[in-house]
Amino acid sequence: MGAVGSEGGDVARAAPAVRPDLVALSGYHSAQVDVSVRLNTNESPLPPPPEWLAELTASVGAVEFHRYPDRQALALRTALGASHGVGPEQIFCANGSNEVLQCLLLAYGGPERQAAIFEPTYTLHAHIARITGTEVAAGSRSSDFALDLEEVARVMGECEPMLTFLCSPNNPTGRADTPEQVAATVALAPGLVVVDEAYGQFAPASALDLRSPDDGRVTDPERIAVVRTFSKTWSMAGARLGYLVADPAVVEACELVALPYHLSAMTQLAGLLALGYVEAMESRMALVTSERDRIAKVLAMLPVTSWPSDANFLLFRPESKDAFTVWSDLVASSVLVRDCSSWPGLTGCLRVTVGLPEENDLFLAALTESLR
Ligand code: PMP
Repeated sequence: MGAVGSEGGDVARAAPAVRPDLVALSGYHSAQVDVSVRLNTNESPLPPPPEWLAELTASVGAVEFHRYPDRQALALRTALGASHGVGPEQIFCANGSNEVLQCLLLAYGGPERQAAIFEPTYTLHAHIARITGTEVAAGSRSSDFALDLEEVARVMGECEPMLTFLCSPNNPTGRADTPEQVAATVALAPGLVVVDEAYGQFAPASALDLRSPDDGRVTDPERIAVVRTFSKTWSMAGARLGYLVADPAVVEACELVALPYHLSAMTQLAGLLALGYVEAMESRMALVTSERDRIAKVLAMLPVTSWPSDANFLLFRPESKDAFTVWSDLVASSVLVRDCSSWPGLTGCLRVTVGLPEENDLFLAALTESLR
């Protein structure tokens, strides 16, 4: 029923205005274009092992769909913890690592609190921060996109962030931060240092090592929280499963803000069974890294600037043509890459996800043609 006006009749009401601080935010969307080669969202080009799918299919019948799932996701957290040598109290699971990031920001961010980021980096860190009403303190990476510790010190001198986000390997620039850089950031930052390792399995080192009680490079390792996902190396972007490895107090804080039963029984089952296929997942990574290095070699011969990558994607900047024209040429050849040219610090840049060998061939042929 509509509202009753002063004359007694119904008057239509406009939809309420959204929060004014959200109005300026544009969504984080990768263009959805109908193409045959999709190299724009850093997924695994290969599906999960068929044995995993068969086991999942066989196990679905035992799921009690009329009941809520295990709210603690204890079996999954225990198995994940064991794979990292920690107990379930140090693991928090959610619907993709984006939901983990959101929970961290809900728990530790919010009005009158700050989160520090170093751009260019994964744009959702700042985006989710703003959605949760957290002020973003943005510093810059250096001109070669490495983490610049003087800049980290400068930002920490200007604010007291509850959360400092690093992304290693950094999306979209590709390189991993060294453990020494992460340790130095922990020493400079006052709050929790969140290391987003969505592509961590591709990297030479992990911030997880710094958390180990006998590592010793960080005096207070409980201030390091590492975020991981099943969306990339695990070939399970469609399952939506990510997790946090952190101090039990941080895990409890995330549980406080997560919705009850947020992680479905299917997601828990899919993740638990996947942990039985570590070798199959790792063999996929070998294909991706060799293809990545092959693409990098071809890029080096084209009129583009490209950057080394420790992940499953490569950032490059066409030098003879503007980025949007090249992006459009690629789309016309049915190849979709990510246009990062409007992201902070990335003028003129495009990012390509490593695909199957034949997809990469199509990308390289289309790019060569565009730049001819
Ligand atoms: N962190 C980084 C750095 C990413 O690139 C992505 C995916 N684009 C995510 C987190 C989110 O991944 P998901 O929610 O699928 O786990």
